[in-house]
Amino acid sequence: MTTIGYNEGIIYEFNKVHEPIRTIPAGSTVTIQTYDCFQNQIQSADTEVTAIDWNKINPATGPLYVEGAMPGDVLKVKIERIDIGDQGVMVVGPELGVMGHALSKMESKILPIKDDLVLFNDLQIPVNKMIGVIGVAPEGEGVNCGTPGAHGGNMDNKMVTEGATLYFPVFAEGALFALGDLHAAMGDGEVSVSGVEVAGEVTVTLDVIKGVSLRHPMLENEKAFTQIVSALTLDEAAKTAAVEMIERIAEKSSLPVSEVTMLMSAVGQSEICQIVDPLMTARFVVPKWVLSQLDVSIFE
Ligand code: CA
Ligand code: ZN
Repeated sequence: MTTIGYNEGIIYEFNKVHEPIRTIPAGSTVTIQTYDCFQNQIQSADTEVTAIDWNKINPATGPLYVEGAMPGDVLKVKIERIDIGDQGVMVVGPELGVMGHALSKMESKILPIKDDLVLFNDLQIPVNKMIGVIGVAPEGEGVNCGTPGAHGGNMDNKMVTEGATLYFPVFAEGALFALGDLHAAMGDGEVSVSGVEVAGEVTVTLDVIKGVSLRHPMLENEKAFTQIVSALTLDEAAKTAAVEMIERIAEKSSLPVSEVTMLMSAVGQSEICQIVDPLMTARFVVPKWVLSQLDVSIFE
């Protein structure tokens, strides 16, 4: 198995002009090492958070050029495995997250991770490993790794975890895939602006789907298909996610749009990914059992 170290190359923005650090055939399974979102600068309680280099935030390892991926295709990314380090870090501060108005200084907290538990003082939080930043080069100008978009990026979606498969629109030749910003745990919303930030490595299988196009990323897991959308407001993100999903299903089923809309209102879930990044991210989640009753398959 190919392992790609973060020493081979990291990016702070997704951009189609970047030189790939590796070229891999479609269908490859690779293990990608990643720093935490502070580029491992906060390793102990002694680190002054204000003293770290804030230009080195949200590094993503990559980009990888996936052979055969062309603009208009879909990049399929199966998350086979996530391995995380043995300590995480959280940060809060003025102007950050939903409580930024009430906090007067930057603070960090180191959280040991042991036996699938994150230790928070004497509390134990179940580990809920996920990937915050994952995506491809965007269509136009570069997008910094802290901002989500149609290309993926900092979606901070807790469903981006082991066993899930992401589908990204490809905007640049080779897709130029990268990932970083692992979390040992994070709730929907990521209200403080940080999850339990942790370094680690992720094993993914990268594949190319021809003849299907997407405007925004989708995610599949054992139970559901989801549409992920980032926008200036959560209202817009949630609405667009539902609209994109309803239109996709209507296109593939024999039901009229009116009835697909009713059905999605009955069984679909509008959910929040995060509310603290430069754009907000929402998802619309449709259970697979309804798709199989409808005889709709999203990617065939
Ligand atoms: Ca993040
Ligand atoms: Zn993060």
